[in-house]
Amino acid sequence: MPRRDAASRRLLSAELLSVGSELTTGETRDTNAGELARALSGLGVTVGRIQALPDDLDTVVAAFTDALERADVVVSTGGLGPTPDDLTREAIAAVAGETTTIDAGLETWLRGLWDRRGMPFAEINLKQAWLIPSATAIPNPNGTAPGWWVDRPDGRLIVALPGPPREMRPMWTDWVLPRLQARGLGRDLVVRTLRLTGIGESLVAERLGDALLRASNPVIATYARTDAVDVRIAALPDGGNGGGAPRSAAEVADAAEARVLAAVGEHVWARGETTWRQAIGEQLDELGWRVAAVEMGLGGELTALFGDAPWLARSESRAEAGHDAPGADGRSASLEATADRARREAGTQVGLAVRATQRGGDMAVTVAISSPVRRHTERRLAFLGGSMGRSRAALTAAAVLLAELRRHDARSPAAATESTIGEEARP
Ligand code: AMP
Ligand code: MG
Repeated sequence: MPRRDAASRRLLSAELLSVGSELTTGETRDTNAGELARALSGLGVTVGRIQALPDDLDTVVAAFTDALERADVVVSTGGLGPTPDDLTREAIAAVAGETTTIDAGLETWLRGLWDRRGMPFAEINLKQAWLIPSATAIPNPNGTAPGWWVDRPDGRLIVALPGPPREMRPMWTDWVLPRLQARGLGRDLVVRTLRLTGIGESLVAERLGDALLRASNPVIATYARTDAVDVRIAALPDGGNGGGAPRSAAEVADAAEARVLAAVGEHVWARGETTWRQAIGEQLDELGWRVAAVEMGLGGELTALFGDAPWLARSESRAEAGHDAPGADGRSASLEATADRARREAGTQVGLAVRATQRGGDMAVTVAISSPVRRHTERRLAFLGGSMGRSRAALTAAAVLLAELRRHDARSPAAATESTIGEEARP
């Protein structure tokens, strides 16, 4: 690759190195790399590799060297402490072919930290005042190990940050990121997440199809989260090389979203990082309503899901699921009465009564909703039993409640009737 002016290389790819034998022995979990990867990916940078490395100089030097062959930015965390086993600085100096010297300014700052506490300065700490000619010190407001920002002649970058997350995070967010962005970070990336309910990940994948899921732009991926199946669309601008007209990232995302909605649109209940509590809250705000809830046989999962939501006026968790076989018309009279009572006693517009009973390996869930518009009862089967089944039962209840509130909000004339929906397929 031709040499480019250092400032003109756009930073499109990154690799992350997590340095420390505590990581490769499993004593400490690497949380740093995941956080950095998420931040970079969200900014349109492709993270090609994440590696954890032991405190071994040859290994760390080789990892930096190889990563710099592939990526525009290499970010490391760890190995910046004062002890001999911390050797990220030595490794970077070796990669750059430069010699470390003590930086006078850093030394003054470092000695000052000890002076202020009236403590003797151990000379071993001087290592933290080291720099090489191509490195700029990254201030560390929460510790004694400054980071290094190292410009390579070809415009690539090394960023070395200390391992402790509470030191690393502010250095990354407040100092490094703005400078990376000033340099030109990532592509114009548009990310959209659609949150789905009532459909499993495999069925979502089947409906979207291989062509959509294997495309390189946009990248469409499904994620089975605990509270939803998410479909994430990540779109970059399309230069039109494929023969079509050039499109912006937003246009690429729009087209993909339309295809996703055509395939699974009826299951979309929210976008982005919206939670059930938020989605229900927004709908209730529209209506100016609040909820009183009674859960039976859910072990407190519904109350936990809604938490201390301001719209939840009262919530009661009963251990006993009891017996309440549906009548001939499929209605659950006593559950509806419970929903009515909850609403009346709490003085809210909505009463929600949910009962879950183990059936085989799964959970039979009945949801009764009483509102100023109508009474509505719905039976569903939540996949799996036990605590998993109870938490899925709570999610099922949330889904039924949200759908019912949205129906009211639409104010369709058909809404003003009583209804019972029979058992549906497992979500
Ligand atoms: P350091 O002295 O910079 O090598 O790191 C010191 C401490 O930071 C370690 O003992 C860990 O507790 C923590 N740490 C280092 N690397 C990581 C990482 N990748 N993720 C989370 N914590 C880490
Ligand atoms: Mg270390």
